[in-house]
Parts: sequence; C-alpha cells; structure tokens
Amino acid sequence: MPESIIHPLIGIPSQSDIAQDERELRFCGYASYVKAIEGAGGAPVHIPLMMGKTTLRAVYRRLDGLLLAGGKDVDPGFYGEAVHEKCGQVDRQRDETELMLTRWALADGLPILAICRGIQVLNVAMGGTLYQDIEAQMEGALKHTYYPGYPFNLISHEVIVRPDSRLAAALENTKLGVNSLHHQAIKKVASGLRVVARAEDGLVEGVEGEGEAFVLGVQWHPEELVDDDRRMRDLFRAFVEAK
Ligand code: MN
Repeated sequence: MPESIIHPLIGIPSQSDIAQDERELRFCGYASYVKAIEGAGGAPVHIPLMMGKTTLRAVYRRLDGLLLAGGKDVDPGFYGEAVHEKCGQVDRQRDETELMLTRWALADGLPILAICRGIQVLNVAMGGTLYQDIEAQMEGALKHTYYPGYPFNLISHEVIVRPDSRLAAALENTKLGVNSLHHQAIKKVASGLRVVARAEDGLVEGVEGEGEAFVLGVQWHPEELVDDDRRMRDLFRAFVEAK
C-alpha cells in the first residue's frame, strides 16, 4: 500500500506575517492544526502564499485534502462589499491563494475541511457573503467573540447539528458545546452549500457541500478541543480519511 494512502497529504495555506525586523515578509501557521491533522493520521504541510498560479497548481496537485484554517478577515472586496468600520485586518495574499485552492478543490472533489475563517473563505469562494462584524450587523446575536483574552478551548455556546449531515455522522452528536473565537460569520449562504449547524441565535456554525465530496465547514475551532473532546478528534479523522 502506498505510503500516501496511509498518511494523506493535507495542505494548510499559511498566513502573512512581518518578521521582527519589519522588512521581510514571512509565512506562518498555527501549531494546533498541524497537531490535529497528524493526530488524525494525516501528513500536514504548510503552503506558502504569493506563488504564481502554475507553481501553486503544482503544489495543489500533490494534495489529498485541503484544510482552510483560522486567521484574519477576508477582504470584503472578494464578496462585493465595501469595508465596514468594524472589519478587522485582512491578508489579501492569503485570500487569493485560498480562494484559488478552494475553487480547484471544489471542482475536483478534493476533501475540504474549513475552520473559522476557513468556513468564511469556503462560502465566499462559492459566491456567498459575510457579516463583517456580528455584533454590529446581526440583531439579537449571542456573544461569539471570545478572543482575545479567553482560553482557546473555552466552551462558549451550543450548536445544533442537522441529524442527516456528514457533520452529525462524524461527531455522532446533534447538539454540542463549542468554543467561539470569531467576530465574523456567514451572512448569505452560497448556493451549493447547505447549513448543517447553527448556534442558538440562528448564526451559521456549520455547512456542507451539496455534492458527494467531503466539503465541510465549521465556525468553531475543533483543533483547540481535540485534547478535551473525542468528537473533535473524530471530525479530523473523518476529514483525513475522506476520499
Ligand atoms: Mn460562535
């Protein structure tokens, strides 16, 4: 059996950062995603930004799955809106790389797991829009922004999961407490996605692709809960093992 079947190669696009001397751009990633993918039997690999399309495509073609991780806000220009005053920092290089990878993966049926910013990138890649700031733009919303200043694994609200979903099958649950480190969320759901989880205030917390491929997004951070909650480990395993 080829080694790649035992350890599917999971690409994780990186994010831009400015090095300490404030001159040189660098690309970095969070350890928690790497640990979660490795723990689920995958081989994680960070993908640099700012490569030409041909080079990015060459990297993409080797992947067995795409993980879209948390991070800065998506530039509202990518979903046709002007920047709201409460929109946070953006990373256009990351937006461009992730949107391109996501569209390729969707076209090919490559498994996608999209987390926090990732669920937002997935929605934007398919034509949806975002709340640029939940508190400012969604009436009656719960507090979803337990960041910064809170433990990443703080259980902050419940989500209700549709029983007939891939997500419910992976978690073996339809109701669970989750962490919540986001100030943005899906507003208009893209056509081709279906909502499979919501918070008690109705906010979208989980989506899936309508097709056969494993395309799953969650608004919470399962990678920060893998040590606390077996269901989150099961979610990563379902993704890594998806064909
Ligand atoms: Mn939330």
